[in-house]
Amino acid sequence: MVSYPRIPGHEISATIVESQADRPDLAAGVNVTLSPYFNCGTCAACLRGRPNACQFNQTLGVQRDGALTEYISVPASRLYTAKLSLKELCIVEPLTVGAHATSRGRITPQDTVAVLGCGGVGLGAIAAAHFRGARTIAIDLEEEKLQLARAAGASHAICASGGNLQQQLADITDGRGPDVVIEAIGTPETFRTAVDIVASTGRVVYVGWVKEPVAYETRLFVQKELDILGSRNALPEDFREVICMLEEHRFPVDAAVSSIVSLEDAPGALSDWSENPARVKKIMVRLT
Ligand SMILES: [Zn+2]
Repeated sequence: MVSYPRIPGHEISATIVESQADRPDLAAGVNVTLSPYFNCGTCAACLRGRPNACQFNQTLGVQRDGALTEYISVPASRLYTAKLSLKELCIVEPLTVGAHATSRGRITPQDTVAVLGCGGVGLGAIAAAHFRGARTIAIDLEEEKLQLARAAGASHAICASGGNLQQQLADITDGRGPDVVIEAIGTPETFRTAVDIVASTGRVVYVGWVKEPVAYETRLFVQKELDILGSRNALPEDFREVICMLEEHRFPVDAAVSSIVSLEDAPGALSDWSENPARVKKIMVRLT
């Protein structure tokens, strides 16, 4: 969805230099994170109170220039303060996307939740589902990602390369299957798997998306009477939930960040990441 040329940067922490006089909570020197989503206010989604899905959404670093810059001016309404370090504040936004998926899935402590994919978004969903008190099952192909998923709160981790995923999930759930499945990969196969493995009358939340069309056995939608939900970006309440979770030290921030580099070293770090994607989690770029 990115248009070029573009300054990236939508997972941000910053220190306020100057602010409006009517916001003493945002005085110079206060550390903040910010919501990078800008919405139109008049489309159907905005009018329904769901600006995260605005038809004309512009995200910093995607459809408009982002925050990989020394100074940026943003509306005060987009800022969040918290009892968190700059490093922790930087992790808030990426976790909100997964947190929003758990909100869409209406996850409660009674639910067993399976998350397909333990990248950034999946990890956020696992942490948020665990924070909501649900039993959470992480599914991925890479053992290292599953280890981080366990640290983020997954009570079970399944390496999907072993095959027979449905049987393993049946063993964990007394044969019923997970109440909620969150798809955070975005392949035709995992889109179908979500519908196959979810319990009857369960909820499927799609937060990944697939570039090509996906063919489905639609009988399962009806036979299981599924709720199939999309999830996009995040709402202010998702930011507040993630901030609470981080303030309670419920997420392994240090394990999720592989390195912190200066702006001068960022190009090298990004090309290393491009060559070895599996070895890198998050790279933070420090500008001051
Ligand atoms: Zn709108």
